[in-house]
This record gives sequence, C-alpha cells and structure tokens, in this order.
Amino acid sequence: MPDCLGDHVTDLTATQRAALSSLAGAVCYPEDEGYAGLCAPWNQAVATRPLAVVGVTYADEVVRVVAFANVAQIPVAVQASGHGAFVPVDDAILIVTRALDEITIHAEERWARVGAGVRWQAVLDAAAPFGLAALAGSSPSVGVVGYTTGGGHGPLARTLGLASDRVRAFDVVTGDGVLRRATASQEPDLFWGLRGGKGALGIVTAIEFDLLPIPTIHGGGLWFDGADARAVLRAWATWCPGLPAEATTSVALMQIPDMPGVPPPIAGRMTVAVRFAWTGDPAAGEAALAPMRAVAPLLIDGVAVMPYVALGMIHMDPVDPLPAFEGHALLSSFPAEAADALVAAAGPGSGSPQVVTEIRQLGGAVAVEPAVPSAFARRDAAYSLFTVGIGVPPVVEAVEAHAAAVRSALGSWTGKGGLPNFSPGVDQVRFMRAFPADVHVRLASVARTYDPNGILVGGRGLR
Ligand SMILES: Cc1cc2nc3c(=O)[nH]c(=O)nc-3n(C[C@H](O)[C@H](O)[C@H](O)COP(=O)(O)OP(=O)(O)OC[C@H]3O[C@@H](n4cnc5c(N)ncnc54)[C@H](O)[C@@H]3O)c2cc1C
Repeated sequence: MPDCLGDHVTDLTATQRAALSSLAGAVCYPEDEGYAGLCAPWNQAVATRPLAVVGVTYADEVVRVVAFANVAQIPVAVQASGHGAFVPVDDAILIVTRALDEITIHAEERWARVGAGVRWQAVLDAAAPFGLAALAGSSPSVGVVGYTTGGGHGPLARTLGLASDRVRAFDVVTGDGVLRRATASQEPDLFWGLRGGKGALGIVTAIEFDLLPIPTIHGGGLWFDGADARAVLRAWATWCPGLPAEATTSVALMQIPDMPGVPPPIAGRMTVAVRFAWTGDPAAGEAALAPMRAVAPLLIDGVAVMPYVALGMIHMDPVDPLPAFEGHALLSSFPAEAADALVAAAGPGSGSPQVVTEIRQLGGAVAVEPAVPSAFARRDAAYSLFTVGIGVPPVVEAVEAHAAAVRSALGSWTGKGGLPNFSPGVDQVRFMRAFPADVHVRLASVARTYDPNGILVGGRGLR
C-alpha cells in the first residue's frame, strides 16, 4: 500500500494553500495569528506544528479536505482535545474537530449522538437530567471519539465494560475522502476497526452510543499518606481479586504539586489513592470497601454516594492543559510481591519523579468479547500500569528513564502489549503493542480498502 507520508513535504505551495483555504471556513497556516490556538493540544509536551490546521464545522468540510489531501498526496491528522497528542504532525494537514459539537440525547431509547469535538463532561451533563449515564473515562475532559475509538476503559469498566463495546454507529470520513456510516450491519469491517483502531481508518465526524440508567453510584477515592504505601498497595493487591462484578478499582501513588485547588492534605507530598466505583446497593459497597478503609489512617475519605455526572471526582485527573509524559504496560497479575516491587521503584524514598504511578484492575466486563467483535484486543490483561510525569526538558529525561525502571521492576508480572489509549503514537511499534498479529493484519487489510493512498497519519503503523 502506498504511503504518502514518505514524501515529508515541508510547506504547501501557494496553489495548494489557495485550494485548501476554499474548502473550509477556518484554515490557518503557521504564520497566521489563529494557528497556535487552533493547534494547541491538551498535552503541552507535544509541539503540534502542521502544514495547515483546519477547524471544521461540518462533516462535508472533512470530506473536502481529505479529498484534497488525496489529490495533493499530503497526510491528514485529526485532533479533538489533544489529550492523546503524540508526535509532531509537521508534514500533515491537521483537522481539528472542536466545533463538531452536536449532542443529542434520545432519553426514551437510551442512546446519544455526539459530534467528534465533544468532550465527555458535556455528555455527562446532557444525560444527567434524564438519570442516564455514558461510559466516560477517568477524566471527563477527554474527547469522546478519541477515547472510544481506543476502547475506553473508565472508572466503572469492570462492571459496565468498555465504551467501544456500547457504540451503535459512526459517521466517518474514510481515508479515501468518502463520508460513510459504519454500524454492525453497514460497513461491518469499518465498524470492527473503528472500535479499538483509533484514527487508523478514518476521521469520525459523529458517534452514537448507548446510555445506561445510572443516576448515582457509590464511589470516590480513599487517600492515604505515602508512608503507608507498602501496606495500602499490599492490601489492595490481595483485596481486589475478590471483589464482585459491581466494583471497579485502581490504586495510584500520587505526587500532586501544591497548587490552587488541590486539597491541602494531599498537596505537595506523596500520597496513595484507592479509587472505587460501585453500581450496586451502597451498603454492600461500603461493606466491600471496609477492608481497605481499615488499612491505615485516611488523609481524605472521598467515597460516598455521588451523582454519576460527578464521575471525574473518582480519579481527580487534571483538567487544565499540561506537559505530560506517559508510560504504560499491561500486567498478567499483581500479587503482593508486585506491590512491594512497585513501592520500591516508585514509592517513598525512591526519588520517583512521576506525578502518577497507577495500577488499574482490568477484567470483569472488559474481558467479555462483545456480541459484535471489535479490534480492541487486550481483553485478557489483568492489570494496567500507567505512569504520568512532567514531559518537558530537563525533567522529562528522568521521568522517561524512571518509567522504564518501573516497568522493569514489574517485569516478572508483565503481560503482552498495551491498551490503545495508553500507547500513543502511530508508528509500527505502537501498533504491535496495541494489537496482536492477526488483528494488525486485518486492520492493515481494512485500511487498504478505505485509505488506499495511505493519507491518514493515524494508520501509519499499518503501512
Ligand atoms: C488525563 C488523562 C486521562 C485519561 N484517562 C483515560 C481513561 O480513563 N481511560 C482510557 O481509556 N483512556 C484515558 N486516557 C487516554 C485517552 O483516552 C486518549 O489519549 C484519547 O486518545 C484522547 O482522545 P482526545 O480526542 O481527547 O485526544 P486527541 O489528542 O484529540 O486525539 C487523540 C487520538 O484520538 C484519535 N481521534 C481523535 N479524534 C478522532 C476522530 N474524529 N476520528 C478518528 N480518530 C480520532 C486519533 O487517533 C487522535 O490522534 C486519558 C488521557 C489523559 C491525558
């Protein structure tokens, strides 16, 4: 399959610029005043400097820009919030979907249709008055489409499954510049690949997915002093495998800077957060959580019955843009010995530069293949390791080296590959991490059909 990315164009010609500018309302070039603001990703560690940035307002504009890119043989990338920004897209046209902001809640039939620029909190807010819930992730400021096309593992995933397993339909402009509708019965290969394959096959313009009747949950975070890290992590490691299907949990070593808005007990020091979400009877949830509450004195007890719309309170992820460097691995188990190894590598006294060192329990509903299979392939992993540190020089070098050291410390328990959403990048290494060989081969085959000229940056690792 050809790959127009090989050409590495460094600027558009005057003729190309004139043609592109006629195709959409907001087209900016590097010297334009609006360029930096339109390109700016949430992850400030990534320098996003495309040949041109196009802020689209209609699906037809995406069609026109992708068709233009096919003729001009210029790669096309896509960005909503920039939480998953990965590499400089300096040889591509960047389509920014922010203004595709439709949100329609079909309350009676319990489903939603949202535009590709919508972030999760807006969906949670729109669905809440009907007592309905959408399967958002730990941070509701993340974009719906980027998250869902990568699988989407949220704070209730063990109970309710992945966001991608609840998708009904995509409107998508495929790499050949055609606007298509992908459902289980219409363009089934595309529907398979868009659920897990992220931006490899097309630029989604709208997505439709199930809503669930969950007005409240029992959830939040228990915050302990870092000095109790070993006891808390050991207890969590032995406690969570016995939890019933109503529970989803994760644990994280946190070093949140002392900034405005951060509660004083957890600011500027190492803490341990046990995150818990429970969809059943709250009294039963309290009983299930009791062993963890008793492990050590609490700095903050944030677990209570809460409205679903406040889902973001469980992880308390940062909302404002920041420079982040992420590290990730999947684990096949996380016994008490692994907890000890993690505390030695990233706990008190380790010199860890990470802001977050997290273990999520996977399994439960995540492990169940949906009725309509998808390209999401890592259902057998038991836990996810995820690190986040400051991603700017000179700190980033220490952050990256330390993240590798943490993965190495957990090497005895490491499983295969990585989750698509926690493996940013589009090179072949990223694809090999996110997909086993058979899925990789099928995705490449579907890409040959829908992106015959290799226009999409998101499919680079398939070519
Ligand atoms: C603070 C934080 C918390 C997170 N929590 C979770 C979590 O709990 N669970 C989880 O699974 N992930 C989580 N993630 C990862 C997140 O889901 C991915 O980074 C996701 O790609 C972000 O999507 P976005 O649209 O916001 O970002 P963007 O950077 O705008 O997009 C990232 C990628 O998504 C794809 N994409 C975006 N828009 C489109 C489109 N219209 N059509 C096709 N492809 C598109 C493209 O491949 C694009 O490169 C988290 C990330 C951060 C930074």
